[in-house]
Amino acid sequence: MSRLKYRWLGAISALCIFAAGCGGISAAKAVPEMVEKTEFIFGTLVSLKLYEPVSDSEFLSVFEALRGIEGRMTAKGASGELAAINSNAGVAPVQVSAETLKVIVTAKSYAEASEGAFDPTVLPLVSLWGIGTEGAKVPTQQEIDRARAQTGYKDLIIDEDNSTVFLSRAGMGLDLGGIAKGYGADQTAAKLKALGVESGIINLGGNVFALGNRADGSPWRVGVQNPESQRGEYLGICTVHDQTLVTSGIYERYLEADGKRYHHIIDLKTGYPVENQLAGVSILSKDSMEADALSTSCFVLGPEKGLHLVESLPDTEIMFITKDKKIMMTEGFAKVFKLTDDSFTIVESLQ
Ligand code: AMP
Ligand code: MG
Repeated sequence: MSRLKYRWLGAISALCIFAAGCGGISAAKAVPEMVEKTEFIFGTLVSLKLYEPVSDSEFLSVFEALRGIEGRMTAKGASGELAAINSNAGVAPVQVSAETLKVIVTAKSYAEASEGAFDPTVLPLVSLWGIGTEGAKVPTQQEIDRARAQTGYKDLIIDEDNSTVFLSRAGMGLDLGGIAKGYGADQTAAKLKALGVESGIINLGGNVFALGNRADGSPWRVGVQNPESQRGEYLGICTVHDQTLVTSGIYERYLEADGKRYHHIIDLKTGYPVENQLAGVSILSKDSMEADALSTSCFVLGPEKGLHLVESLPDTEIMFITKDKKIMMTEGFAKVFKLTDDSFTIVESLQ
């Protein structure tokens, strides 16, 4: 009997935020109160912690905007733009909004840069495995072969001039689960800035965007989840300012069957969840959509190729965490990271 574990609570605790009690608050300076609101969007808990006074209707408008993005970009349901692209696979190009186009263009560019390690046409395999749903199961080899044949980013045809997207073979399907939350975090940051909010933490189930500094002027401190722990334990703390920290890991959603753990990131070469030494990958950068695509890409690519990809990108840092508790990171990541769990060891290389 297989046992399904869908732990969205684990996902929200993927990164713990240290918003208070970190010292350095001057007695003379009045620190505004923090307001926090949480809603369930993108299949996960989305929380906003803000220092600026934001009215209920402004909070509502931010959450509504996120729900709009979710609706357009989810592969589930019948009414969104992604659903329209998927139901027209092999039939006809579909016109989409500028924002959906932007996310799909970025997703394809990461597919190209990672040579298919990241591939938004992964939907047939994601649906087959169903990790994170009640119907999760280990498929047969025949089913995997059939679903694999219906993937391939080279058959994702984008016409930017006409804002159309076409999956050229019937049975194909787009899944933006590896990138859309990052886009949502960026949009939320922009919307909050437009509302005059200069300080806050946006957390979309582990995709964190730290806006500005904390109210007392010191940088935000964001905990990096211990990928092996059940619930919100962190292995270290990152000091961040106007940056995003995005993690992909094996702890988020998984299926346990026959003594094995099958997680939610698929290796399109095998059709199975990625099997490598990694438990988690964290990206630190300015752009949450890019960081989201990159954390998933680098998880699939593994340390050597993943590091190579990140090194080609400006202002982007990476941390790899292995199942045997080793941590390897770029210099820029090390500068802002403090290890707090001494059962982990920082190493120079994972070779
Ligand atoms: P993340 O948690 O951002 O690493 O994204 C994982 C999600 O991306 C999964 O739940 C799938 O919806 C989707 N996904 C799984 N494998 C891949 C892959 N190899 N490339 C792109 N998206 C993927
Ligand atoms: Mg991702």
